[in-house]
Amino acid sequence: MKKTILLSFFLLSIGFKNINAQTNCEVKFGVACYGSSENIFSKVDVPPSFYRGTRGLAINVNYTGFTAPAQAAFDYSKQIWESILNGTQTIKINVYFLALGSGGLLGITFPNGRKNFSGALVSDVWYPTSLANQLAGTELNVGESDFDMYLNSSANWYFGTDGICPTGKYDFASVALHEMCHGFGLVGLSKIDTAGLGSFGLLTLADFAPAFTSFPWPELDTLPGIFDHYLMTSNGALISQGAFQNPSDTLATIFKSNQIYWSGIYGLQFNNNIEPKIYAPPTFSLGSSMVHLDEATYPNGNENELMTPFATAHSSNHNPGPIAIAILKDIGWNVDPNYNDVNNIQNSNSEFQIYPNPVTDEFRVSGSEFRLGNSISISDLAGRILLQQNISEQENKIDVSNFTSGIYFVELKTESGNSILKFVKE
Ligand SMILES: [Zn+2]
Repeated sequence: MKKTILLSFFLLSIGFKNINAQTNCEVKFGVACYGSSENIFSKVDVPPSFYRGTRGLAINVNYTGFTAPAQAAFDYSKQIWESILNGTQTIKINVYFLALGSGGLLGITFPNGRKNFSGALVSDVWYPTSLANQLAGTELNVGESDFDMYLNSSANWYFGTDGICPTGKYDFASVALHEMCHGFGLVGLSKIDTAGLGSFGLLTLADFAPAFTSFPWPELDTLPGIFDHYLMTSNGALISQGAFQNPSDTLATIFKSNQIYWSGIYGLQFNNNIEPKIYAPPTFSLGSSMVHLDEATYPNGNENELMTPFATAHSSNHNPGPIAIAILKDIGWNVDPNYNDVNNIQNSNSEFQIYPNPVTDEFRVSGSEFRLGNSISISDLAGRILLQQNISEQENKIDVSNFTSGIYFVELKTESGNSILKFVKE
């Protein structure tokens, strides 16, 4: 009840843009994420780790205000993260499904945080407690959530988990996956104040009032977040590590430079030795700037699109993407080394078969669940859909003669659900 009142007040008294304002709470950080007006179909599939069924992390979710379809979609996204990250400490999420207006806001996440704990890899930076607890090997925030998340029940959502998001709708599972990534640490403490000074660690509760968090708000002591720690200019200057005065005009200029990159070693490795680009447009937007991947560099359909600031209607993305995973690895997360490896996927319990496999030019589909009119789609390892069609008797043969050699997924949608097999094109 308290939360509901809070957020309605929030809507009345705050412009949409200011919602962005986010910030930090007891830790820490807040991030607001928006839908764009674009309406373009694309689909990036879940990482292979999801199908293997092993879960290296436990996530407990405290749901408030959810409908059954919304909760099922959120739970699906939760399982994707449980299949990618490893950790001994259970993650605790408070998530609220509430009306947050019709201005395009999809979600807001406020991670809890800790600094200078036993096990911290870097001193004098704020860590999200979801990660701090893993590094410490113990629960540092007993009785508190690791992050609070708000998803806008007024948005036009698609709650299915098959990734086939209809025109005009936003894929709920994709946005839940995105917001959780903020909670795990793709989040920072940069801000530009009303005097135009750029800073780290000066966010206050007032920056996003009247919204607040379920955990206490700390004095941030002008310290950056662990994510900020790895941000650099195009010249390689690490912007939160003393190269620039904090706060300063210079930092504000840098935050609006459109030239901010990730310096972590895994970011480079996972991105073909190119430094990943961070969203830092000429107009600073609290909660969007400096806490997402660059929108223009990773457009809709790109494998790294999930963690850009704007979601696209009609599209879905169920894989955080190599750059986001690399960032989490750089800040200290233990990532399943095979999360994106298709080789261990078990095909045995699928409800359909394809043959021959490996395939040279074409294959056939059969199985007890197979019906005429079922939809079939083929995607590559990056999740890009290369072929999609309904199956008629005549077209039970699928022609892949123009595919390059490699590993692909074929997904069959039936009345009872979806099944996925991999095949090798020779
Ligand atoms: Zn976001």
